[in-house]
This record gives sequence, structure tokens and C-alpha cells, in this order.
Amino acid sequence: HPDDQALVAATYAGLIAQEPSEPARGSSPIEFRLLGRGGTWLHCETTMTDLRHEPAVGGIVLTTRDITERRRSERLVRDQAEFLRLVAGGAPLTTTLSTLCDLIEQYLPHTKASMMRVEQGTLNYIAGPNIPEEISRGMRGIPIATDTVACGLAAALGDQVRTADIGAEPGLAPFAPTMLRAGLRSMLSTPVLDPETGETMATIGVYWPEIHEPTDEERRLIETLQSLAAIAIDRKESEVRLAHQAHHDALTGLPNRSLFSEVLQIALARTARSGRVDAVLFIDLDRFKHVNDSLGHEAGDELLVTIASRLHAVARTGDTISRFGGDEFTVLCEDLDPADARRVVGDVAQRMLDAIAAPVEIAGQSIRLSGSVGVAIGGPGSSAGSLLRDADTAMYRAKERGKARWEIFDDELRAATQRRLEIETALHTALERGEFVVEYQPIVDLTADRVEGLEALVRWRHPERGIVPPSDFVELAEETGLIGGIGEFVLCEACRQVGVWVADGTVDADFSVSVNLSARQFEHEDIVATVRSAIDDAGIAPRQLCIEITEGTLMASGSAEVLHRLHDLGVKVAIDDFGTGYSSLYYLKRFPVDVVKIDRSFVDGLGTDADDDAIVTAVLSLGHALGLRVVAEGVETEAQRDRLIGLGCDAGQGFLMSRPVPAADVPRALVVG
Ligand code: C2E
Ligand code: CA
Ligand code: CA
Repeated sequence: HPDDQALVAATYAGLIAQEPSEPARGSSPIEFRLLGRGGTWLHCETTMTDLRHEPAVGGIVLTTRDITERRRSERLVRDQAEFLRLVAGGAPLTTTLSTLCDLIEQYLPHTKASMMRVEQGTLNYIAGPNIPEEISRGMRGIPIATDTVACGLAAALGDQVRTADIGAEPGLAPFAPTMLRAGLRSMLSTPVLDPETGETMATIGVYWPEIHEPTDEERRLIETLQSLAAIAIDRKESEVRLAHQAHHDALTGLPNRSLFSEVLQIALARTARSGRVDAVLFIDLDRFKHVNDSLGHEAGDELLVTIASRLHAVARTGDTISRFGGDEFTVLCEDLDPADARRVVGDVAQRMLDAIAAPVEIAGQSIRLSGSVGVAIGGPGSSAGSLLRDADTAMYRAKERGKARWEIFDDELRAATQRRLEIETALHTALERGEFVVEYQPIVDLTADRVEGLEALVRWRHPERGIVPPSDFVELAEETGLIGGIGEFVLCEACRQVGVWVADGTVDADFSVSVNLSARQFEHEDIVATVRSAIDDAGIAPRQLCIEITEGTLMASGSAEVLHRLHDLGVKVAIDDFGTGYSSLYYLKRFPVDVVKIDRSFVDGLGTDADDDAIVTAVLSLGHALGLRVVAEGVETEAQRDRLIGLGCDAGQGFLMSRPVPAADVPRALVVG
């Protein structure tokens, strides 16, 4: 080999430049390439021994071994390692398979190689760096069958198939002239098999320029490279599969939240330039949790799959639907005309609602669901996050307005959201700035005609908005967790104030104060300890404090235990707004409850509405049967009060007797009449 000549010459020269010696001197082994008879390079390892002084020899002896095979297998190991690194690095399939073709061509001199992929029952060209394009173009859609050309047959049989002479193969007649011109005469097709399933994933074609019977060694080499191709393809397939799994919901097969967000971002970037708009629909199934709990999760899953496919069916082509989470779906309507977007999206929303509302047969039952849909239309400057949030907000509005309907995120909703956000921000600092105050509303004993206690009601004195009523912030405070601090303030302040009034003789030692506790506070571990220390610090008797909770709070899990512990403290418990929730008298019997407060809405129609009369009568008789004190809320007229007295109601509270007043005005409000 031209590159090795110098090495051989130098070794030889070095040896003869020295005097012959005893014992015979030898060179260390050298390696060089020699041209073999078949025209391929052979790797040799040679040792030269100086036997010039040996009369029988009188020269230099070269001992040469053919190490072609050893070098080749070493190289093969190296090349394989290199190839696997390429695959592991995530190189595209065309790159890895082209590299394999190059390797084949290096190992089998004078050949050309190509690869075809199995796709839907046919073979399609994927790689072949040295196959002329006019040929590779024809290597598409080749059927996998036993009556087809070599590669298709090899794929069908799962075994190597040889085409001795391409020129003589009838199936290849149309291509033969070009192939022969390109030096493709003889061919060996080898299937690339999936090691697990045994299915053909691809085929390797190796072409020789003359009629050639592949040797066993050549076949073995192709076998080895075939398994490398299998690894590369398998790896790519699992990458694709994993990418799909990462972006799709396993249950419904719909795109998931992360894919949806990506698609939305891309859509927004595109429409930002075009002057058109995109819309997002946020769909939430109403009461799905209830269905899921009562029918079982399997039926729930089935239901979700059905709904998903219905939503898919009624979407416009090109709309993206995702399963966003549990029972939430989102739809992206792209590229809408701004003048028309509202109507188009409203249409889609209504179709989605109808699709959800159609009955579903599940677990032998016919089930009717409904959904609430929020729509947001993205203008220039909308982000994926803001659009999704707006659609979500609109969905909540749909829920508030009675469910089974759609709402759009418009300017009004934007303003309300903005206001809410401002209140929320201000709420965070309101407590430490001392902006909360407590007002007191008298509770009047209707038979004795005297004030028996007060209900503490929180007020927020906002520096700019003035007095903010609890209806505007209590729910928000619950959601943000701020209710804990606010509630504790009201509790302590009310107890402290009553302690002061008892001490200065404004009220006697029977007098009680009622404090509202929200569900969120009631769930809290420390509530019993908080109540105890409020009482202790104020120096009042436990029975002077009444805790008001709603029926919802009463029924929540964990409430029973807290209630019993409060009862053990000696604190009284009132059920607030009775009649608006579960109205379960059974619960009243089971829990240590002392007072029932009939909701204002029933007191409203007393004396005029026969139903209200009947309800108040029923609550009174059952309450009394259970030994509870019954208080009527929202007494506004003399007629209502007289009727309540007539029905035997114990106590009343309302604007008629007194509005809630600041602490300073309480002494005056205690004087009835
Ligand atoms: P609630 O516990 O049912 O309190 C009674 C509400 O009815 C009070 O509204 C009171 O001002 C109002 N009211 C009293 N008499 C009449 C009447 O004759 N007619 C009418 N139309 N209304 C009357 P307010 O103070 O706006 O409180 C609303 C709700 O906010 C309360 O309902 C209670 O659920 C909650 N809340 C108030 N203070 C607190 C508190 O400190 N903590 C918690 N967690 N919730 C509170
Ligand atoms: Ca109350
Ligand atoms: Ca109430």
C-alpha cells in the first residue's frame, strides 16, 4: 500500500545497516497492507529476521501473517460502537441508516447499499447515499409480497433473497437499464427484523457491479449490520412513541395540556401577524365527580372517552381539542375573522354543549350530563396563559349562572376579574393595616322582648372603596386562605369586646356573642385551641360564645370531631342559614348543636307565602322536638315578627330590631323598642 511502503523500507534498511550478529537479530513486528489477489487490501503483520550469517539462508527472512480478518473484526467493533453512539445521540433515521450504507460499502468493496422502510405494507426508500436519484425515486411503494421483486420478497419471507442478475429479472425490467448503467448488476436483499416481534421493519439492499454470489462471510457481515439497523429503527420508533405519550392523554387519545399549550402558542404567534384571532373554549363537565363516585371509576372513564369522541366529532376540522385535566377539555379555534369570531365560537360552544347533553348509555343506565363552557377570544398581545385563564374565568361564570351553558370572557367579565384581583391584592395587607372592624347585630328574645346576644359581623374599611361588605371578600378570603387570620381577628375581638361589656356592666354574664366560622377555618387543626384562647384571653365563660356554621360545614368530613371538642369546651353551636343547604334534621340530632337559625329567605314570605309559613312551622316544631333554640334571621317587618311570635319562635334578628352597628353603638342598641 503506498502509505505503508516507507515503513517497510525503513525497517528493512535498519536491519541491514547493522552487522550480522549472533544470535540472529529480528525486527519488532510491523503492520502493513498488501494488495491481495481479489484486488482488496490485506492486512499483514511481519517480522524481519537477519539470517545473513546463516549459511543455509544468507539473507533476511520475512515472517508474515494475514491479519485482515482480525483487523476487520476489530474495526467492526469500533464502527459498531461509533454507530451506536450516533443512534444514542438521537440522530435522524436518514442519517443513521446512511451511515450504515457507508459502512457496508466500506466492508464490501465495490458494492452500493440502500435501505428501505416498511410503511403500511409497502417498502419505501429511506437511505442510500450512492444510489443514483433516478433509481431511488423508483424505490417507493414496493409491495411486501411473495410475488414481487427481491426486496419485497425478502421482507415478506423475513429472509435474505438474492437477485443474481438484475438485467434478467422481469420485475425489474423498467429499472434495469438505469441500474445496469449505474453499476448495479447483482443484488442481495436482507430484511431488518424487529428482534421482539420478528416483523420486518426495513430491508437492506446490497448491489454488486457484476454477477456475484455473496460469500458466507459477506452474508454474515450484512446480518451484523442488519441488527444495527434494527436498533436504530427501534430506537426511533420508541422515541416517536414516547413523544406521543408525553403529548397525549392515555385514556382518550386526545392531545394533553402540554401539547395544547404548545399548539396554542404557535397559533397565537401566527395570527399575531395576520390580523386574525384565535379562540379558546374551556369545557368543564358539571357534577362529573358525583357521577364518577356513584358509578365507579371505570364507568367514569368510559364516559370521558365517549364525551371526548363526541367533542371531536362536532369540532370544526382544524380545531384542536385536548383533555386538559380530569373532566376538563379545551378547544382551540384558529385563524378566525375578528368580525365573525364571536358568532363562530358561540356556534362551536353550543354544539359542544349539545354533544355533552345527549344521553350516554353506561353500566346499563342512561346518563345525562351537562357541561359549562367558557370562551375567550385572543386579540393581538394575548398569551397562551392569559387566554386559557380568561376562558377558565368565563367557564366559572357559566357555572355561577346555572351551569349547562356557555359564557364569553367580555369587557364586563374582564372588569369584574380586575376588581376581584385588586380586592385580592388589597386583602393581603388589610389585616396588618388594621382595616377590619367588627359590627354587632342584636339577637332578640321574642318572648321576653330583650336582647339576648349579638352576632359579630366583619367589615372591611378599605382606604379607597370605603366599607366593603363581607359578601365581596369572604369567599375570596376563603379561596386565598386569608380567612384564617381574618376569622381569628373577629373571634378574638368579639370575645374581648363582650368581656369588656360584662366587666363594665353593659351586659350580664348570660349574654352571648355569635361568631361566624367558614368551612375553611373549621377544617383547620388549631381551631379548637384558637377558640379556647380567645375565650380565656377575654375572660368570658365558654357558653357566652356561639359558633355559627352552615349546614355545608357541618356535613364536611372531620367536622363532627371538631364540633364535639368545641361542645366539650362549653361553647354553643348554631347552624346558620338553615333551609338553604341539606336541611338534614338527622344531622342536627347527631351533632351537638344548640341553635338553628332559619334563613332569611323563609322569613321573607311569612304571613304572605303559605310555603314559607309551612317551612318555618316545620323547622320550629322539629327544632323544638330536638331541644334546640330557633332563631329567625332577617326580620324586617312587624308582620313577620308577629307571625314568628305566633308560631312560637324563640328569637329573631333583623333590621326591624336593629341593623348591625359599631361596638360604640351597642349599648344604645341593647335597649329594645
Ligand atoms: P350571615 O351569617 O347570615 O349574617 C347575616 C347577614 O344578614 C348580615 O349580612 C346581616 O347584615 C344581614 N341582615 C341582618 N338582618 C337583615 C335584615 O333584616 N334584612 C336583610 N336583608 N339582611 C339582614 P352581612 O354582614 O353582609 O354578612 C353576610 C355574610 O357574610 C354573613 O351571613 C356571613 O355568612 C358572612 N360573614 C360575616 N362576617 C363574617 C365573619 O366574621 N367570618 C365569616 N367566616 N363570615 C362572615
Ligand atoms: Ca351568621
Ligand atoms: Ca345567616
